[in-house]
Amino acid sequence: MRSIAEALAAMLPAFSPLGEEEVHLTESSGRYVSRDVMARFDAPPFDNSAMDGYAVRATDVASASQSIAVRLPVRGESRAGGPLPMPLDPETACRIFTGAPMPRGADAVVMQEDTDQDGDEVAIQESSAEGKHVRVQGSDVRSGELLLRTGDRLWHGELGLLASQNIDRVHVFRRPKVALLSTGDELRELGDELDPGAIINSNVYVLTEMLRALGAIPVALPATPDTLPEIEAALRKALEADVVITMGGVSVGVYDFVHEAFKNVGIEPGFWKVRIKPGKPLAFAQYEGKPVIALPGNPISAMVTFEVLVAPCLRKMLGDPRPHPQPVVARLRDSYRRRPGRVEIARAVAMREGDEIIVALHDRQGSGSLPSFVGINALVILPAAQAEFAAGERVEAILWGAGLRGDRSCFEDMG
Ligand code: AMP
Ligand code: MG
Repeated sequence: MRSIAEALAAMLPAFSPLGEEEVHLTESSGRYVSRDVMARFDAPPFDNSAMDGYAVRATDVASASQSIAVRLPVRGESRAGGPLPMPLDPETACRIFTGAPMPRGADAVVMQEDTDQDGDEVAIQESSAEGKHVRVQGSDVRSGELLLRTGDRLWHGELGLLASQNIDRVHVFRRPKVALLSTGDELRELGDELDPGAIINSNVYVLTEMLRALGAIPVALPATPDTLPEIEAALRKALEADVVITMGGVSVGVYDFVHEAFKNVGIEPGFWKVRIKPGKPLAFAQYEGKPVIALPGNPISAMVTFEVLVAPCLRKMLGDPRPHPQPVVARLRDSYRRRPGRVEIARAVAMREGDEIIVALHDRQGSGSLPSFVGINALVILPAAQAEFAAGERVEAILWGAGLRGDRSCFEDMG
């Protein structure tokens, strides 16, 4: 049986980015860029004022103070989006507003609060050094400069930067299509009549959303009954996608046909079983290099193994150079005792207490019951060898879902 690290090491090489496509910026949020992106032009594109006030020559106002103002005639105006201002003659001022181009010849701005305009003249009551309150052309971005590196994820800030550069199309890695194939005679879809013994195929709805959140394209196939021919036919269909995930039928039960179906379809086995709790019977295989993952059907196992083993692989495939979650250090609220042997991924509620993150493990860890995932915001990693955990012991936890939130604003004591 493989450790989680060994399983990931075996799986990751099968998940390479699929090539690139060009998308409009408005369709690109959450995607990973597949090429370095360079600046098209300087930003700001021209010297402009950071304040409402007067554009001047710094030398003209060097002696200005509250008690002895320097009086300058006001010649012209520069406003954002307005006509370009005339060049500034020595010993004159130009009325200027935030974002407006500096007149040629001016090298500083005096803010409005330090002036007093009277008719065509302004009294400057404060000196201004050269460059003061001026945003210099190219001071933020230089034309040709590297804006984004291959593998950077487009998010709010990145979108803003590209938009500001008038970059409307961007090269991103393709999103893998991931087929989801549930197996089980008992499975019904949402809204179906539930005859005795039947259950809803809840996993497919969960995994569809987990895939969407990553940026992959979920392709949910109809659930198949537990018969070899039907599973094989469904697998052949599923193999049209870039990645195949099956759920259920991968344990050691008499009706667990997934292994045999893989063999019959020509899917090469990689490994079966990982030292993870929950989720031990996970299997990994490949069809002509295409990754095929068999997740256990138990809803908690499916969710946990997807998050721990599949999500990093898919992030890598999506183009993320840093696909691995980085846990935070937390303290256990309560003691915990268990059978050692496998790394346990325990559902928990994490909260801030003083300087620390405290994790309260859900009291129903073992079961496959879905209510034990409600409100969970952390997955606590309990090392394989350890059986006893004391209250207050340090553990690592992967933040999950909404992460840390509270009913009280963190700004209340911040001044
Ligand atoms: P299996 O892995 O097929 O042995 O299934 C283990 C448990 O998970 C059984 O109780 C199944 O009914 C349940 N199960 C399997 N597949 C799903 C699914 N797609 N959605 C919800 N529960 C499932
Ligand atoms: Mg089954």
